[in-house]
Amino acid sequence: DPRLQGISEAIRVVPHFPKPGIMFQDITTLLLDHKAFKDTVDIFVDRYRDMGISVVAGVEARGFMFGPAIALAIGAKFVPLRKPRKLPVHINSLLAGQLMRCVAFIPLCSSRRPSKNLVVIVLQNPEYAGEVIAESYELEYGTDCLEMHVGAVEPGERAIVIDDLVATGGTLSAAIRLLERMEAEVVECACVIGLREVKVVACLLLVFCVDSAGST
Ligand code: 5GP
Repeated sequence: DPRLQGISEAIRVVPHFPKPGIMFQDITTLLLDHKAFKDTVDIFVDRYRDMGISVVAGVEARGFMFGPAIALAIGAKFVPLRKPRKLPVHINSLLAGQLMRCVAFIPLCSSRRPSKNLVVIVLQNPEYAGEVIAESYELEYGTDCLEMHVGAVEPGERAIVIDDLVATGGTLSAAIRLLERMEAEVVECACVIGLREVKVVACLLLVFCVDSAGST
């Protein structure tokens, strides 16, 4: 596709960010380039327009920069897959009213702060419903997690997952698990950048390590 060259050139590579040794693929320069940005979205739209997709799920944060434009163009909804504790959870309106009355009333009638017990009782009320599901995934050091609102997708809906970049695939795998737990059908995952070099570098490093180990 002749558009790929321009897209590739619009992506800036920032050495040693966010830490030494990492060549960070910076898509903010792609967003500044109207033609490259539009071509990127158009390539996805051309592919998914007639595939019966009703859900575009975007991975926080850079999946949010491409996903909504694709969703609008193909007539799908956009579902944000967010990092932990970012999605609002639901308190039903009655409980919310009670909570506000408690908070407003206690400082008026008492010079003391609300007792810990009261706060615990309110938060443990079963009606305080956390309507998100979560899936964790491995990072180079440690783990991270993605969350999705329950009810954002219906069973049987056809979904795609959008992110800016795939390296190990761990993030996309967590996204797929979230959607499949809600019984959506994940048709494909799509990213602007695929870090093929990661595997090559990893292999080279591995070979180097084996050689070093063998020779010492
Ligand atoms: P994976 O889970 O496939 O190993 O890593 C993909 C995730 O890491 C994506 O959500 C992506 O935004 C982020 N990421 C890792 N390295 C880079 C990078 O060099 N540039 C950008 N833009 N994102 C990166």
